Amino acid sequence: MDEEELYRIRLDLALECSGLDLWENDLLTGEVIFGLDRVFSDLGYDSEESAAFVDDIFGLMHPDDKPAVEQALADHLAARTERYYSEFRIRAKSGAWVWYANYGKIVDREGDEPGHRFTGVSFNLDIKKRQEAELKALNEKLRKQNALLERMNAELHALSISDSLTGIYNRRHLLQTGEDEFMRARRLKHELALLLIDIDWFKRVNDTLGHVAGDHVICAVADCCSRGTRAHVDTVGRIGGEEFAIVLPEVGLAQALDLANRLRRDVAAQPVAVSSKETVSVTISTGVATLSPECESFHDLMVRSDRALYRAKDTGRNRVCGPVSSS
Ligand code: GH3
Ligand code: MG
Ligand code: MG
Repeated sequence: MDEEELYRIRLDLALECSGLDLWENDLLTGEVIFGLDRVFSDLGYDSEESAAFVDDIFGLMHPDDKPAVEQALADHLAARTERYYSEFRIRAKSGAWVWYANYGKIVDREGDEPGHRFTGVSFNLDIKKRQEAELKALNEKLRKQNALLERMNAELHALSISDSLTGIYNRRHLLQTGEDEFMRARRLKHELALLLIDIDWFKRVNDTLGHVAGDHVICAVADCCSRGTRAHVDTVGRIGGEEFAIVLPEVGLAQALDLANRLRRDVAAQPVAVSSKETVSVTISTGVATLSPECESFHDLMVRSDRALYRAKDTGRNRVCGPVSSS
């Protein structure tokens, strides 16, 4: 056995083991020197059918893949690429599309000589492509699930901080925000005000018009407070049955009293429709407290505004009281 024979055996062994099919075309004569025997037999074609396709593999190629293959070929023939590489689907005898790749080069190109012996290998890419497609589908599914999870988390968070009847903040969030704003205002030596609001004679609404009507009134007052304050700056919360609190960062006593009186007038001026036929007018009383050096916590501020609220109730309701009673 001579060296050349030995070399051929080695090459066949390597091709067989790696699943590669060798091809070679003579670009001058158009002759196919090696065909794609293995590829065609893997695709289920007999030798007669293979012979018909060997000259024109494009006849079996998926139309969507042709332009890229043609471009890769043109690039290599024009010496724009060192190697020719393309991926494409070939129709098996069963009708199924199977992914293959081609890898090759013109081996006798030298300097300006274009060369004409175009040789390379083809190999099955189907498993890799299927895995890629599965991975892509899996990633897409994961992306959608993550987006859903993020949306659900956001909804859950919104639910956890809002009052289910009125949609404004709940007691827990109001107190937490109050603590945060208290710390911030004290650290920066800024102003901070707190309003505690209670609907007057609310029990009568429930007793005369019913609980559902009472709920409408609570919602209307909450709405009035939200509309009358600064969005994303002030925090309006329902802290009890018909009681509300508003945290007002950067607000001093005079401004807080003005705002409380404005809200008081707004509520009194807007009868609430409690059914298609009935409306009811209510008033509110408000206690105002502002940050002072004696205040050691947000709780202190709550206690002070609560005392002011009691004074407003005691002195006739539909009133606003601050540290120094005013109306
Ligand atoms: P005041 O002017 O002194 O505040 O009198 P009031 O009648 O408003 O005070 P009171 O605390 O006696 O009444 C509050 C009522 O609020 C009692 C309770 O039944 C009612 N209430 C509490 N939560 C709700 C609710 O979610 N919906 C309704 N409709 N009523 C509620
Ligand atoms: Mg009350
Ligand atoms: Mg009340």
